[in-house]
Amino acid sequence: MNTLAINGGKPVRDTYLPYGQQWIDDEDIEEVVKVLKSDFLTTGPKIEEFEKKFANYIGAKYAVAISNGTAALHAACFAAGIKEGDEVITTPITFAASANCILYQGGKPVFADIDPKTYNIDIEDVERKITKKTKAIIPVDFTGQPVDIDAVNDIAKKYGLIVIEDAAHSFGAEYKDKKIGSLVDMTTFSFHPVKHITTGEGGMITTNDDELYNKLKLFRTHGITRDEEILHNKDEGPWYYEQLELGYNYRMTDIQAALGISQLNKIDKFLERRREVANKYNEYLKDIDGIILPYQEEYTKSSWHLYIIQLESEKLRVGRKQIYQALQAENIGVNVHYIPVYYHPYYKKIGYEKGMCPNAEKLYDRIITIPLYPGMIDKDVEDVVGAIDKVIKYYRR
Ligand SMILES: *Cc1c(COP(=O)(O)O)cnc(C)c1O
Repeated sequence: MNTLAINGGKPVRDTYLPYGQQWIDDEDIEEVVKVLKSDFLTTGPKIEEFEKKFANYIGAKYAVAISNGTAALHAACFAAGIKEGDEVITTPITFAASANCILYQGGKPVFADIDPKTYNIDIEDVERKITKKTKAIIPVDFTGQPVDIDAVNDIAKKYGLIVIEDAAHSFGAEYKDKKIGSLVDMTTFSFHPVKHITTGEGGMITTNDDELYNKLKLFRTHGITRDEEILHNKDEGPWYYEQLELGYNYRMTDIQAALGISQLNKIDKFLERRREVANKYNEYLKDIDGIILPYQEEYTKSSWHLYIIQLESEKLRVGRKQIYQALQAENIGVNVHYIPVYYHPYYKKIGYEKGMCPNAEKLYDRIITIPLYPGMIDKDVEDVVGAIDKVIKYYRR
């Protein structure tokens, strides 16, 4: 057998393959340059165009462009009316932002455990964790597979809760043949470079609700309005504006929006290639003994932001750390998504303890994210599979 690179052998690849990467072409660059040569660098015509096209693509009434995905979650928590003393239920297997946004508003994140099959939030555990203080649920479409939205909406209706879907992973994903983005009260997206489309930094919130839409728009720009219909002093003069809420400067620039529009033109191609790569992984990895592949519900169509393998630790001689290091040595850019949010020292400091979500904690010890992005060529996919095969075979009991 080939000696592992970590033991001094030749790596599967000569060059490092990252786990995720943006796709930027000349068209994107031209669109950005056009804005740089125009009158408006920020809050110009490109923002509105991006919002309209984005809302149209996913089938929502409104879209609000914002400075990043975290700001999108913060704005959604504001619009939902989250305030001190309120509880909001989310998953621990997510990026910290999904829970931090609750803290920004003075609310308390409550972590429900995950479903060990899909790794998405366990709806039954959500229901168990509802109290009189619960105001909202923030499910995350983990890796790009939508949560069971009907089940989430049923519970929300039963207890009078608002649903904010963190769709940072699931732009273009489908639930029962409908695109994610208009199926709950508010849906948030991220345009960080590893996500499906990028604006460098950027985010979007979509909603079908007029009142939520108005709150989101206020929040993005200091809580300030010039809308004559809302102003308290309508006759002050044409310069006049009013601050109605404590908002932030969370605006996206027109430079970013131009990039976003250009990226949006390519989303179907991006999704197709991500799905192709995922299907190849499903096919090539299924016979490797010692790993579990991502489980997909038949009513979902994932947008495949991440491809995660789960190690069957009982079949292996070493732990996740050694497998991870061995794959890195083969020049495969593996990663781990995610450290349970409440493991972080900050969350410990504010009173969270290990042991709250046993399924999430067990999963965390066994997962490795492997490379997946639209620019991957077939040879890249084969290298990843070859490296996993080599490493897992070597360490199998
Ligand atoms: C990327 C991400 C965010 C935050 O988005 P930013 O644009 O980086 O602020 C939030 N939630 C999840 C699940 C993410 O993956």
